[in-house]
Amino acid sequence: MNDQSNKSSSPMFSNSLMSADDALEFLIDSAQVSEHTEITSLDDSIGRILSEDIHSKINVPGFDNSAMDGYTIALDEKKLDSINQTFSVVDRIAAGSTGKELKKGNAARIFTGAPIPKGANTVIMQEECQASEDGSEITISRSIELNENIRPTGNDILKNDVILKTGKKIKPEDISLAASVGIGELHVFKRLKVGVFFTGDELVEPGNSLTVGKIYNSNRYALVALLKNAGCEVLNLGNIKDNFDSTCGALEKLSNDCDLIMTTGGVSVGEEDHVKPAVEKLGSLSLWKIKMKPGKPLAYGQVKNIPFIGLPGNPVSSFVTYCIFALPYIKKIQGNSNFKNEPIKVKTNFDCKRAKPRREYARVKIDYSSEIPIASLYPKQGSDVMSSVVWADGIIEIPENTVFDTGTILDYYPLSELTR
Ligand code: AMP
Ligand code: MG
Repeated sequence: MNDQSNKSSSPMFSNSLMSADDALEFLIDSAQVSEHTEITSLDDSIGRILSEDIHSKINVPGFDNSAMDGYTIALDEKKLDSINQTFSVVDRIAAGSTGKELKKGNAARIFTGAPIPKGANTVIMQEECQASEDGSEITISRSIELNENIRPTGNDILKNDVILKTGKKIKPEDISLAASVGIGELHVFKRLKVGVFFTGDELVEPGNSLTVGKIYNSNRYALVALLKNAGCEVLNLGNIKDNFDSTCGALEKLSNDCDLIMTTGGVSVGEEDHVKPAVEKLGSLSLWKIKMKPGKPLAYGQVKNIPFIGLPGNPVSSFVTYCIFALPYIKKIQGNSNFKNEPIKVKTNFDCKRAKPRREYARVKIDYSSEIPIASLYPKQGSDVMSSVVWADGIIEIPENTVFDTGTILDYYPLSELTR
């Protein structure tokens, strides 16, 4: 990974309240696209990011071929308007074989995908052909046009076309297209290796019982799942002791083995928050108080030149800041050209009578039955209420310092897009 330290230590953002847009822009500007690529088989390429344009070396289809099971005919062009024409059937061409040249007035049985023989100029589907009992002739009651049911050479792809572009996240249809031009391997960006750990002596692993004052470590599982969903390799140190030395040890280990380090919790400025001083000791850190709800504190820096992102500890804050800030950053590093979250316009079925100083990323369900989809709020929007995320279809952006009526159009992001 490249050295990004000169950018992140910009004094401009240290310790001041910062807008979500500025924070995102700064992060995206700091993200350097990976230089590490590898070759993968088509079967293993799903979800990976292409690291080069794919050109086709062939036309697809490579030859004129039949779109139907039926009869191909060498039609006399003078007889285009005639009806009830009869043709001798002199050949049979299945897909994968080639037929002999057809003389004017002759036909050949042909099957879907089979090449159109020399001399033939149209294909009539079998349902429209009346075959004689012995199959030696066919009669077509309607008038016939030239080039019916013929898929011409290069109909799908022309030789030298760019069929897939660098930065594309590979989907099943992309794999199909690559295979159709004979490409069996793809050049892709290497998976980003993300090292994670979690802080907080209150945290207990699921499967154990809780004592008073303890909670289950849910962020650990959320973050690992989100990163895997994003195609990252994860090196997970789990929950580490909430003290300065353990935090430094974890950071140092991950900086040797990973392309990015992420944590949740411990980035507030409380006495129990050791991540901040530990990162500062080993590198540099900007701690941002972002004017947003949920998720005020967000940390970005370097540990020995490896980028570091510290998400807040509250589960909803951690989830939402990952979606809004960390994932676009990760996507850009991974070479994904489509790294920005693109909003959809929806209408609120709620109002806002009192302007709020911080932008809210509120969890909503969407009713798609009207022309402009309608968003309803989950009743509890606290940063500790993870049920709100599970209930929601997505996140609506409620602008800061704004009052609005029911029916206002706002930006909305489906969770399905925000998390992948
Ligand atoms: P912190 O940012 O460490 O002050 O944590 C803020 C809140 O998030 C506290 O209530 C923590 O108990 C909670 N929290 C921190 N880490 C986790 C975690 N890994 N899983 C669930 N909750 C957490
Ligand atoms: Mg903590």
